[in-house]
Amino acid sequence: MKIIDLKYEKIKVKLKKPFVVALGVVEYCETVIVKISTDEGYCGYGEGAPFSPVTGESLDTVLFTLETFKGLLIGQDPLAIERIHYIMDRTIIGNTAAKAAIDIALHDIKGKVMNAPLYKILGGFDNKVQTDMTIGIASPEEMAEEAKQRVSEGFRILKIKAGISPENDIEVIRLIREAVGYKIRLRMDANQGWNVNDAIRVSQALEEYKVDAIEQALPYWNIEGAAIIRKRTSVKVMLDEAIHDHVDALKAVKTQSADLLNIKLMKSCGLYKAEKINAVAEAAGINCMVGCMLEARIAITAAASLVAAKRNITEADLDTFMYCQESELIKGGFERDCDILTLLDKPGLGIEVNM
Ligand SMILES: [Mg+2]
Repeated sequence: MKIIDLKYEKIKVKLKKPFVVALGVVEYCETVIVKISTDEGYCGYGEGAPFSPVTGESLDTVLFTLETFKGLLIGQDPLAIERIHYIMDRTIIGNTAAKAAIDIALHDIKGKVMNAPLYKILGGFDNKVQTDMTIGIASPEEMAEEAKQRVSEGFRILKIKAGISPENDIEVIRLIREAVGYKIRLRMDANQGWNVNDAIRVSQALEEYKVDAIEQALPYWNIEGAAIIRKRTSVKVMLDEAIHDHVDALKAVKTQSADLLNIKLMKSCGLYKAEKINAVAEAAGINCMVGCMLEARIAITAAASLVAAKRNITEADLDTFMYCQESELIKGGFERDCDILTLLDKPGLGIEVNM
């Protein structure tokens, strides 16, 4: 089987409301969808959602990189996923969201050829995923109000954005606990916004409020600092921006700097290396979460399939598709019942795209 065509298209969807994190404000879901066609009639869909503060990519660089890959991939066997990653990596370093778009489309084709849903291709541990819901940065009172609202909608795990002011961050958790009680699981994501002293102080203060984990407390390069925080608090330390691929995961293991790793397909060039991150983590006794950038339904389905497939991936932060208006362009993949995503028993991603 050979790849005969690669099409791509950018989509931009306004969010229901602007989303604030320590790295900046986001108002649109801007993402690129990809269709790879083969000479045997199979086609696969992929998605690359750039987020420049984390992967250094923009919509334009994703489109440029996909055009470059198009010339290299036509004529290749779409099931030769390792070979295609080798070709992409030796052609251009980084550009991980563009590579993820290709990788997801190839996995969609693989599922269709094998006539099995992607979550079974990847391991098949389960077909369901429980996602958290993220509360963006606002005043502590507004964040507590939103937390209460999300819990009333049925969400049972909240991820609280932080990292601008340590004092505020502690106050936010105090008010949220007051508003939602102790049955709701909480984690806090500082998006690199603290230093080591702040992180120790905040995480120790959060112990009282039974916060599960603090995510990426320090700048991405400060792996040693994360190891110091781990020794000073009982709150779990999760790494996100520090972990792009399995090489980063091994560094985290060697430096004992994480209790949890946050895998994102847009950082890991898609599923192929995401599985390797999970394998390194599992061998070290570290559980993983799969998170997302501002991704639409194609990438979220791929990410949910990975979570469902793997026993070691115990957490999911796959909520961003809920911030966007429902699109007529992309349908399927999974069904949502509040915080539970159930993957469809259709071959590959089980997604229909009008492109
Ligand atoms: Mg994060």
